[in-house]
Amino acid sequence: MQSKIIRSAIIGVTALTATLAGQAFAQDDYPSQPITLVVPFSAGGPTDTVTRLIAEPMSEVLGTQIVVQNVTGAGGTLAATQVANAAPDGYTVFIHHIGMSTAPTLYRSLPFDPLEAFQTIGLVTTVPMTIIARPDFEPETLAEVIDYVKANQETVTYANAGIGAASHLCGMLFMDAIDTQLTTVPYQGTGPALTDLLGGQVDLMCDQTTNTSGQIKAGEVKAYAVTTQQRLDSLPDLPTADEAGLEGFNLGVWHGLYVPAGTPEPIVQELSAALQTALQDENVVARFAELGTAPATQEEATPEAHAELLAAQIELWRPIIEAAGVYAD
Ligand code: ASP
Repeated sequence: MQSKIIRSAIIGVTALTATLAGQAFAQDDYPSQPITLVVPFSAGGPTDTVTRLIAEPMSEVLGTQIVVQNVTGAGGTLAATQVANAAPDGYTVFIHHIGMSTAPTLYRSLPFDPLEAFQTIGLVTTVPMTIIARPDFEPETLAEVIDYVKANQETVTYANAGIGAASHLCGMLFMDAIDTQLTTVPYQGTGPALTDLLGGQVDLMCDQTTNTSGQIKAGEVKAYAVTTQQRLDSLPDLPTADEAGLEGFNLGVWHGLYVPAGTPEPIVQELSAALQTALQDENVVARFAELGTAPATQEEATPEAHAELLAAQIELWRPIIEAAGVYAD
């Protein structure tokens, strides 16, 4: 009996040693195949744009292809659920934004806990948003927009990328600030929403500068305000929302990279180092500036700083969302 236990213990130890050796081998070898980088919104939108810009230099550093995959729906939570259940082997990486911190309060039955299901890799960038409208929308200033939507709230439409998207969050704060509810039109991302706004199918939107800068500079949309507290070098004539009448309004869309929890630490460190290098890439720095944003600092692009930010942001947004009373099932 005893020898049987000892024998199975020995088999167990041997199996464990083999697994650990296999894991060490896998890590030394990492990456030995293409990496899938999941984007939770449509191709061509702001999150997708940021992702594709950093994917190229990251892929060079890692020495493997990075395949960007757009998994849309439910304000980014469908993609998050898929990645939370993926193998923790470093071959599925996820980019998500501020929505990772608002989803736990917005969704009554979220199938994952952001703090438990994911391992943070590092912050990528914090992107300002802009309040914009279709080109022939009557109001010329944010103050006029506020008066107009209050007088026409039954007919004015607001585009967003689903509950949990940054465009949803911005709209929620805006409507709350002016005490007016608008009809929202949900999209799979603000890429297609912007197309409809340009075509006049929807009136208003609040979206990241990484999607709207080109159209604002070209005068193809009406732009009223930037949602962060400083004017942008790339759009110096655009007032801040605070200057334009929404006192204290401040919203920046931070984006971070994640892998499923349980991913081996050496892989997490390797991905984080690749992100840090990518954020110093000349093309990334220049394109981010054109698009009204800047790379995260090297310190912010660490797993630890990103984990701290995520936890703090979940706490920050909970009471605000609860006060607004907006939920999804
Ligand atoms: N980031 C989303 C997108 O890429 C939009 C949003 O969060 O509102 O489409």
